[in-house]
Amino acid sequence: MQATRVAVVGGGLGGLAAAVLLARGGCAVTVYERAKHFGGRAWTTEVEGFRFNLGPHALYRGGAALRVLTRLGVKPTGGIPGQTGTFALRGGRLHTLPRGPVSLMTTDLLTLAGKLELARLLAGIGRIDTHALAGMSMREWLDTRLSRDDARALVGALTRVSSYCADHDALSAEVAVSQIQMALADNVLYVDGGWSTLVDALASRAREAGVRLETSVRVEAVGLAGHGPGAHVEGLRLADGTVHAADAVVMSGSPGDVASLVPGDAVLAGDAAEAVPVKAATLELGLSGLPRPDALFALGVDGPWYASVHSASARLAPEGCAMVHVMKYLSGADAGASETELEAVMDVLQPGWRMNVVARRFRPALLVSHLLPSAKRGGLSGRPPVEVPHVSGLYRVGDWVGQEGMLADASFASAESVARSLLQGQRAEPRRAVGA
Ligand SMILES: Cc1cc2nc3c(=O)[nH]c(=O)nc-3n(C[C@H](O)[C@H](O)[C@H](O)COP(=O)(O)OP(=O)(O)OC[C@H]3O[C@@H](n4cnc5c(N)ncnc54)[C@H](O)[C@@H]3O)c2cc1C
Repeated sequence: MQATRVAVVGGGLGGLAAAVLLARGGCAVTVYERAKHFGGRAWTTEVEGFRFNLGPHALYRGGAALRVLTRLGVKPTGGIPGQTGTFALRGGRLHTLPRGPVSLMTTDLLTLAGKLELARLLAGIGRIDTHALAGMSMREWLDTRLSRDDARALVGALTRVSSYCADHDALSAEVAVSQIQMALADNVLYVDGGWSTLVDALASRAREAGVRLETSVRVEAVGLAGHGPGAHVEGLRLADGTVHAADAVVMSGSPGDVASLVPGDAVLAGDAAEAVPVKAATLELGLSGLPRPDALFALGVDGPWYASVHSASARLAPEGCAMVHVMKYLSGADAGASETELEAVMDVLQPGWRMNVVARRFRPALLVSHLLPSAKRGGLSGRPPVEVPHVSGLYRVGDWVGQEGMLADASFASAESVARSLLQGQRAEPRRAVGA
């Protein structure tokens, strides 16, 4: 029997992971990436010897990304941050960030009543059944569980750092609490060399599995045969006008990118129209040294701020130098942030840092994730499924698809579900004959 021909649109983490899983399952897979290189948002740029990810990237050690990478034989190396030098930022000052019973009791960040309330909540947070919270916003959940403003503000900050979402009126408490559970239980890994090392490792696993990898090739449209519920994939058309046969197509990219591949499809257009993205402003800094070597992390409690010396945990800077990510979590009302706002965070964490700048890069509004899982849409179950329900052989992967995880975890989990579904379907139904 001839192998099922699968075309994967997009060579970010999600597309590459799906490609390897499908090729190992016996499919003949081609990945088409429109950019000059693979990686999408997981790309790392080298500037003056500093490895800049596209904003701060941390791999959740308890999440789907690491699970699937491990399954594919990719073992990221790096370090776990936050052992020392971590602070809360409030009122333009650094405070001890509670990380356990001792720091909770000694910090001046909370009142005694706030400390007791927070201690009670965190002691039981791992046992909360998050599915029951899908339709409740994080704001409502915080208001029901905590009466003290200082305790609420700290859990709000934990929500931002573990989900990247600043809009707690919209965010489903299911997602927020699950992310906090995962961050507290397993922490994260900063990856040596940056996230493009994961991309490179996936691309080499793909080659080993026989995947054809194409860069600088934009897919323009998916070709379908039939209409309505009986429609099925026939192949795809590239921007150079060539047409390629395929039994199945796996689409990645934004909900808008995906909708544009099947013009006139009301369901895909509807998904694109409804997706509210998560955004952040980012400042990457390569420094010749740290003015305060003991101050490695600051998390805003009265504002959506983040600063972290990633090179303190992973190899991302030349010997003796430091690579720092600074970020503002944007909410729906923010169009972006100014570089001055982010510099002000560094002035508190590392006074005098400006004298040490070797390299820097500012982005006022980066797209972190294509869809904020909202309470209004029922949390994770409100995200579009990996199978496009009305077209046989059409699938999607990404951080806005499927019912597991957020950010890269969602991209990897959706890649795994696509492979499971497509390979099961292939066993149930032999390959459809498709003309080129
Ligand atoms: C500032 C920032 C911080 C982040 N921090 C974290 C973090 O700490 N932890 C975490 O887990 N995640 C984080 N993320 C999110 C993570 O980077 C993404 O979730 C993940 O990289 C998405 O992978 P993907 O393959 O689904 O999508 P993408 O990386 O967007 O890849 C999609 C690819 O498809 C290609 N494409 C689209 N349309 C076409 C077409 N028609 N033809 C050919 N190619 C096409 C695109 O060029 C792109 O390369 C962060 C993101 C940002 C921006």
